[in-house]
Amino acid sequence: MAVFEKIRENKHEFVAFGWKDKVKAIIAIHSTKLGPACGGIRMWNYPSEEEALEDVLRLSLAMTLKNAAAGLNLGGGKCVVIGDPAKDKSEQLLLALGDFVQSLGGTYITAEDIGITSEDLAIISRRTNYVVGLPPSFGGMGDCSPYTALGVFHSIKTAIEYLYGSSSLEGKTVAVQGLGKVGFSLAQLLLEEKARVIGCDIVEERCKLAREMGVEIVSPEEILFFPCDVLSPCARGGIINEKTIPQLKCKIICGGANNQLEKDEDIKLLERMGILYIPDFIANAGGIISLSVEMEGDFTPEKAKEKVKGIRERVRELLTIHKEKKVSTLEAALEMAYARLEGE
Ligand code: NAD
Repeated sequence: MAVFEKIRENKHEFVAFGWKDKVKAIIAIHSTKLGPACGGIRMWNYPSEEEALEDVLRLSLAMTLKNAAAGLNLGGGKCVVIGDPAKDKSEQLLLALGDFVQSLGGTYITAEDIGITSEDLAIISRRTNYVVGLPPSFGGMGDCSPYTALGVFHSIKTAIEYLYGSSSLEGKTVAVQGLGKVGFSLAQLLLEEKARVIGCDIVEERCKLAREMGVEIVSPEEILFFPCDVLSPCARGGIINEKTIPQLKCKIICGGANNQLEKDEDIKLLERMGILYIPDFIANAGGIISLSVEMEGDFTPEKAKEKVKGIRERVRELLTIHKEKKVSTLEAALEMAYARLEGE
């Protein structure tokens, strides 16, 4: 079966199935080489159990790369729950998830992701100690999305500096796809630095709030192909592919969404178009970096912001590798992650 091939190929350490009562959850631990595996819980109405398994395998591998490249002493893991968060999420389910996480004895530390909020984590934490990103009233830092946005913002500025010789955003146009938690905070930061921000969302209320702040709204069909300096995907993955790439009119792609390239090979098409791609697992590490500050204890927003600023150095490093070794930015980012994993 293809899925067993994938586990072998990517060398996942451990996959656990939490099939109990009405709960269908899977935890995949890709690597604990650098520390306990850390990654959020995603609750999604997966069309099949196979698709949920494929997703958790892919996401946990991405967490290994993200945590390693970010210089964190954390491994990569993820949990997926099959179900519609709007209909199927209940206290009973969250408590069962807490038991499931606890049963792994700290090999896996959980956090929020799509479909799971920090309030849900507070319920999960009644059954397990291995949770980060709890609401401030529970001693945690709460939603880490503003730090993800901050990391993307630093990455955009560093990429602009590389291409134009100055990191100033004045007169630069950034197109943000998705004005949710990450996209909206990012738009705010960009506007503060006088960038022209174009945005879109499929939810009208999100567009309205962004428009009031100064974002120029276009339709979801237009955003990817809007002429701009930076395209910032902050909605979903797989949107950079052989169909969309020939129509792109940006110079840089740098955003918060996970797995923006449909396939790794798509980087070659981007290079041929002269588009500089900052790999997502480097640019969107701000959230996990801020959570690592919470794990160290004594969280303050200032400490987290300072640590997230380190993403600038990592983007500079990957651009140096890209330039000097004449490899793609994706290869450069993977080289950085594997150098840490292989102890170089
Ligand atoms: P979110 O759900 O708050 O925001 C996503 C927004 O995108 C929503 O407002 C949604 O309506 C919109 N959207 C969905 N499809 C769209 C489309 N086709 N066109 C335009 N808008 C569309 O999620 P988020 O927390 O902001 O995360 C955004 C992305 O960043 C996700 O891919 C997530 O996995 C990734 N990410 C988030 C974090 C974090 O800290 N939240 C960290 C790392 C990666």
